[in-house]
Amino acid sequence: MAQVNPYLAGATGHCPKCGEGFLFEGFLKIAPACEACGFELSRHETGDGASTFIILIGGGVGAFGALFSMFAWHWPIWLLLLVWLPVTLGLSLGLMRPAKGLMVAAQVANKASEAGRRDV
Ligand SMILES: [Zn+2]
Repeated sequence: MAQVNPYLAGATGHCPKCGEGFLFEGFLKIAPACEACGFELSRHETGDGASTFIILIGGGVGAFGALFSMFAWHWPIWLLLLVWLPVTLGLSLGLMRPAKGLMVAAQVANKASEAGRRDV
């Protein structure tokens, strides 16, 4: 088996161990185990970690873009909402899955000790 970059595999939604099986069962639900290598993926739950970063990134881009558009180009409120709400929503939804995959991959690559424990 070729060497797998766990971060690249996680960001693309694949198993960070083998790079072949799918990491997600639904949109954001981690699959119980890799279908290709059998690696137990459900132990690596990231909680709210990924959404925290996405809120900061997507919200920052949306807020900065709206404020810049309002002060630099004097856009009316309806245009700000029409442009920046979908941009913020699209960024948030589009980045959520790669970010969660990256966080799971980071846990696997760094052998996070708490990741496999059921009491934390
Ligand atoms: Zn695998």
